[in-house]
Amino acid sequence: MVSILITAGPTREYLDDVRYLSNGSSGRMGCALAEAAQAAGHRVTLVLGPVEISPPAGVTVRPVVSALEMQAAAAAAFGSSDVLIAAAAVADWRPAQRAAGKPPRDAGTRTIQLVPNPDIVAGLAAAKGPRVVVGFALEAAAAGFGPAIRRGRDKLRSKHLDCIVVNLHDAIGSTHTELVLCHADGRDEALPRQDKKAAAARIIAVAVQLRRAREPS
Ligand code: C5P
Repeated sequence: MVSILITAGPTREYLDDVRYLSNGSSGRMGCALAEAAQAAGHRVTLVLGPVEISPPAGVTVRPVVSALEMQAAAAAAFGSSDVLIAAAAVADWRPAQRAAGKPPRDAGTRTIQLVPNPDIVAGLAAAKGPRVVVGFALEAAAAGFGPAIRRGRDKLRSKHLDCIVVNLHDAIGSTHTELVLCHADGRDEALPRQDKKAAAARIIAVAVQLRRAREPS
């Protein structure tokens, strides 16, 4: 049994008590990963942003709203995990200030100052030790998988990942997905368009295999 930490869903960055910035993410891929990991007999902690769907029963869920909350929850669970799979669509920025209540709408133009959110997976992977860290790269669909894989491989290196799952943005909200797993050893493994649950089972198997290969014999 391996301990698997998964980040999933979007984050919300509130401008005031009502309005927020976010990303389009259903959380389906992350929940499918949690379900596949649990079905394979592993211990799962799911750090989950606000989503409509219900996470799989039996999984330890840490609900979060903002990127800073997701970072804190993931950091708290990382130490006791063997594998981190970062499937969350973290908002790139948050408003520099949050207003109280709901300031009334007015006709004027507004300028919002945004500050960058921390890169959660990169921060954790920088001191990962024997842990396996798998990231996701959702890239623009227009140019196809070629450029998407190149950008994914840049992220694999810069974020110190062991594998990155490249998908195209037309997978958002869908039950199906076509993926390429870019391995740190240079191999690209294409998974045909399939149900996110089936794709999730393969991703879990890859991550667990990498982790077991690091265990002292
Ligand atoms: O947004 P980007 O394409 O860089 O995301 C790639 C990977 O990094 C994903 O696994 C995502 O969950 C993770 N990420 C993160 N924290 C961020 C941005 C991205 O953990 N602030």
